[in-house]
Formats: sequence, C-alpha cells, structure tokens
Amino acid sequence: MPQQQYDYDLFTIGGGSGGVRAARFAAQYGARVALAEKRDLGGTCVNVGCIPKKLMSYAAHYHDDLQEAAPYGWSIDNPRFDWATLIANKDREIARLNGVYRKLLDDTGVTLFQGHATIVDAHTVAVGEQRITARHILIATGGRPMRPDVPGGELGIVSDDFFHLPALPKNAIVVGGGYIAVELASILNGLGSKVTLVHRSAQLLRGMDADLGVFLAKEIEKKGITVRLDTQIASIAAEGEVKHVALKNGETIAADCILFATGRQPNVEGMGLDQIGVQRDERGAVVVDADFRTSVPSIYAVGDVIDRVALTPVALAEGMVVASALFGDGKRAVSYDNIPTAVFSHPNVGTVGLSEDEARRRHGTLRIYKSEFRALKSTISGSSERVLMKLVVDEASDCVLGVHLVGPDAGEIVQGFAVALNSGATKAQFDATIGVHPTLAEEFVTMR
Ligand code: FAD
Ligand code: NDP
Repeated sequence: MPQQQYDYDLFTIGGGSGGVRAARFAAQYGARVALAEKRDLGGTCVNVGCIPKKLMSYAAHYHDDLQEAAPYGWSIDNPRFDWATLIANKDREIARLNGVYRKLLDDTGVTLFQGHATIVDAHTVAVGEQRITARHILIATGGRPMRPDVPGGELGIVSDDFFHLPALPKNAIVVGGGYIAVELASILNGLGSKVTLVHRSAQLLRGMDADLGVFLAKEIEKKGITVRLDTQIASIAAEGEVKHVALKNGETIAADCILFATGRQPNVEGMGLDQIGVQRDERGAVVVDADFRTSVPSIYAVGDVIDRVALTPVALAEGMVVASALFGDGKRAVSYDNIPTAVFSHPNVGTVGLSEDEARRRHGTLRIYKSEFRALKSTISGSSERVLMKLVVDEASDCVLGVHLVGPDAGEIVQGFAVALNSGATKAQFDATIGVHPTLAEEFVTMR
C-alpha cells in the first residue's frame, strides 16, 4: 500500500524521552511524523524526574559544602536556604528545556498535537475531536507514581508533587527504599528537613549489589536521616497540618509531609489498548517483542510503558531502534547488559554489571575486591563520610563482571567503567591501567 494512504508514516504518543527521540530520528530519516503530548514536552525526565531532581540535589549538596568549608579556611557566616528561590530557578530552567524540545520537533518537521491521544484502530489515533491516521503508531506514554493502598494514603504526596511543594517540609516521612526514596530523602535532608525513611524491606536499593544498600543506609544515617527498615505503614491520619503515620508495629510517627516513593506504573489508561488488542502484562505494561512491536503489528512501544529498564538513556536508545528499523538502515540495537546507572542520593551510588549474588548464580566462582575508606577531601573537612568500592570478577575468565561504588561523584565515575565492561575488560587489564592520582576512581585499578 502506498504510504500516502495515511496522514503520517509515524504517530508517536508521548513527548517524553523515548517519544521525542523516536519522532526526531524518524523525521530525520525522511518519515512524515506527528506526536501527541498531553502535558509538557520532555516528559517525566525533564519535568518531574531526572532534571529537577538533579538540580535540587545540587542545591542540597551545598549544605555539606558549606559545613565542610571552614577547616579549609573559609568563613561563611549564617548561610540560609530559600525554597522559593530554588523552585523558581528550577522552573525557569525546565521551561527553557520545554522550549528546546519544542524546537527540536519543529526543526525536524514533526507535527505536534497537544492533548490526550487514544488509539482508535491499528492505524488511527484520536486527539480530542481530530482523527489522524498513520502507517505506524508508537506508544511512548511513560509511567506515573503509585501509592500504597493504606487508609489515609491520599494524605501523602508522590514525586510529581514534590517538585512543586509550596514550602520545604519541616518533618518529612519518605516511604520506600528505591531510587526515588533515597534521592528525595537526601534532597530534603540536605535542604534542612528532618527526614525519616520508612522502608518495608530489610535493605535499600533492591536489585542492586546488596553491599550498596547496606552501606548507603549507614551513610545517609550519618548525614541525619532516620532509617527505619523492615517497617510498614498501617494508616495515616491528619490533625491540622500534622500527619500521624501509624506503623504496623503499633508505633505512631508524625510529620508535616508524607512522601510515597513506592514505585511507578505504566501510563496506559484511557488509550483504547484493550479494545484494539494491544497485549499487556500483569503490571499493565505493554508487551513487545525484540523489535518493540506489540501484539498489533503496526503498533510499537518503548520506554517506561514497556517496563523493562526505566531509565532515560534506555528510552532514548529504544526510540532510536524503532526509528531506525522502520525508516533507517535498521542497524541499531539496544543491549540490556551492563547498563550503568547512578542513584543521586547523598552520597551517590554508581553501579554497572552484575551484583555479587547474580554473578555467583551465573558464573559460579568469583573473586571479590572490596575497599572501604575515607576520601582525601574528608581528612581536612572532618566529614565522617566513607566510600565503598567493589569489583566482581569471574574466577575462570578474569573478566570484570560488576563495578559498584558508593561515594562522591559515583555517577560520573561509573560511566567510563561501563565502557570497560562492555569491552569485556579483565581484572588484569584493570591492573595494567595507570590510575589518575589522587582520585577515588583510581582505587578501581589498584585493588589487589
Ligand atoms: P516519559 O518521559 O514519562 O514520557 C511520557 C510522556 O507521555 C509524558 O510526557 C506524558 O504526559 C505523555 N502521555 C502519557 N499518556 C499520553 C496520552 N495518552 N496522550 C498524550 N500524551 C501522553 N532516569 C534516569 O536515567 N536518570 C535519572 O536521574 C532519573 N531520575 C528520575 C527521577 C524521578 C523522580 C523519576 C520519576 C524518574 C527518573 N528517571 C531517571 C526515569 C526517567 O525519567 C524515565 O525512565 C524516562 O522519563 C522514561 O521516558 P519515557 O519516554 O518512557 O516516558
Ligand atoms: P523502585 O522500584 O526503585 O523502588 C520502589 C520502592 O518502593 C521499593 O523500595 C519497594 O520496596 C517500595 N514499595 C513498593 N510497593 C510498596 C508498598 N506497597 N508499600 C511500601 N513500599 C513499597 O521505584 P522508584 O519509584 O523509586 O523508581 C522507579 C524507577 O525510576 C526506578 O526503578 C528507576 O528505573 C527510575 N529512576 C531512576 C533514577 C536514576 O536513574 N537516578 C532516579 C529515580 C527513578 P521493595 O524493595 O521491598 O520492593
């Protein structure tokens, strides 16, 4: 069938990381592309995710920097923090990024439809009153925060709300033990809130190397966060501005802000997916094959809505694979091995490759190299912060299977080591690499 039979070659639903990247690349390959976005361009990452989180994390880091400056000779009198200034400047930067995204679409000739899109049939999308046809449809609708089902749960906020709180909470209870819980708890703590982290399990950062969560819990406690592990919430009740959280062990704790960081779910509601037969899994995520094709052959899906690895660079990579497969040379692929990731808690966590447990399951005998120490900067600043660095090595092949650390700039450090792991580097090659001195990262090439 000639492609002119349809209004567009590709209609992308969702203007976040995956959707915008796929739309731009498809348009650059010469396709006629349209995109629907119901909120702000840039999606979760730009508006209520990576970017505002990292800006606010920078803000919170000044707390430690200011505290630790005196032994280095600085006198900084009476530093104060103003929430409204931070939020206004953060919002200004995000508005600029929304404009950058708009320009990226305009410059590549992608037509933008503002509004909620539903899929009418295998080749038709509706946005409001408009019906638009396309040869291919891409679902890139991301996800949204979930709240646990507890009485009074509506009294808590979620990460989307956090970025627009009218004031810094005095006392906050953060519920959860994953990425968002430890990142936002660290931000609140650094900016001056009294923070209690309540986590239902025994360990933070489930899924990562177990040492990371154990070590991080100790470090964030040193910075002033009260960490309550193996603790579940039973209900929440309000008394004026104060919220009382009843725990399942019978205790009650109070705060003026309860933040649920208890996971996310795919955005699939009100899109007509069931009517047209797009298969979903038990969590609601859109099921795709190795080429990101759904059970309806003209419809594809990428990013958080497929619930594989919920990270911006992964959504970008998946979007590019679809664009390249449909309109380019089809030579792009996504490897889900050795995806580096960082948790921007204070201190940061950086990790790539296999955890010790997973490596043992897959490879059997391992060599583990672990080092825990005080960074040079802390010797004068007086900070009690410690650094953890760990290598997981396959005994048989000498290949480095995992690189894990907790410490300053862990996210920056781990990126380069991900290249090494993807290149199959051995421990002997790590050892033969000259360190950069004095840095934290050199520890990875000097561990014996
Ligand atoms: P999204 O970016 O969520 O975009 C989906 C878009 O679709 C949204 O704009 C939505 O409004 C729109 N939409 C949904 N339904 C419809 C519809 N029916 N019609 C029209 N439009 C629709 N990842 C990192 O790599 N690093 C980080 O530091 C990081 N920090 C994060 C911090 C937080 C607090 C959160 C919540 C996430 C963070 N992430 C981070 C994860 C990252 O934001 C996501 O993995 C990424 O945004 C997923 O991109 P996406 O394109 O799949 O979806
Ligand atoms: P995570 O899956 O990382 O963590 C969810 C946490 O909530 C877990 O600790 C889980 O506990 C807990 N939990 C789940 N359900 C309940 C419940 N009913 N009651 C109490 N606790 C509950 O999800 P996040 O929402 O933190 O982040 C979502 C994803 O977004 C991340 O996995 C990551 O891919 C991405 N992200 C990436 C960031 C980055 O790159 N820096 C930053 C933020 C998000 P348990 O461990 O016991 O299951």
